[in-house]
Amino acid sequence: MHAAERREQLKQVYLEASACTRCALSESRTTVVFGAGNADADLMFVGEAPGANEDKQGLPFVGQAGRLLDKLLAEIGLERGDVFIANVLKCRPPGNRDPRPQEIEACRDYLHAQVDLIEPRVICTLGNFSTKLLRGDPTGISRLHGQPEVHVLGHRAVRLYPLYHPAAALYTPSMLETLRADFAQLPELLAMGPPPQPQAAEEIEPIPDLEPEPAEAEPAVSADQLGLFE
Ligand code: URA
Repeated sequence: MHAAERREQLKQVYLEASACTRCALSESRTTVVFGAGNADADLMFVGEAPGANEDKQGLPFVGQAGRLLDKLLAEIGLERGDVFIANVLKCRPPGNRDPRPQEIEACRDYLHAQVDLIEPRVICTLGNFSTKLLRGDPTGISRLHGQPEVHVLGHRAVRLYPLYHPAAALYTPSMLETLRADFAQLPELLAMGPPPQPQAAEEIEPIPDLEPEPAEAEPAVSADQLGLFE
């Protein structure tokens, strides 16, 4: 599928997510934080869940952890517009508590659709929640960070690259240095190109749950939000 078509389908997934009531977080959220950035990015980041600032603004990683992420990206010559940033949960857990298993389950189709449609080569999982979800294994981040692995997600192989979560690194200088050193390996990982694919992308069927509805009246969405996809 061409990039423009994938971007259009991503918008449809965004429209569906923005009205989501699959779990109780829909009752307490202010805004669905779908994710933002380049819809055809080679590099994707997956964090945990929106915090208070993200919930207000509808954008991922806009607080202190986000500023650190921007800084680390700049150190390797990248900016937000070069990457796509998403989270395991699209809605804020009240009081920033940990995501619950049933919330992760309710939200996982959106993340899988994002991965399928953006077709990143490398996905940095930030912290334990996204690492465990995308690896399908309970091993913790401290044992895995900085070690790329090829995984098949949906129908595509990607290089998963677990990293410490920037919010954790904010308060632990040694963790920040490790995160910075792991970031420094990213250009080389990206230069490796996509991993060998299990089958041709053209053969992939869309995810049935999230197939776009035939064009009817679309829910009202701000231009800002649709502008999330470059
Ligand atoms: N902001 C996000 O969007 N996600 C996190 O995991 C942390 C802060």
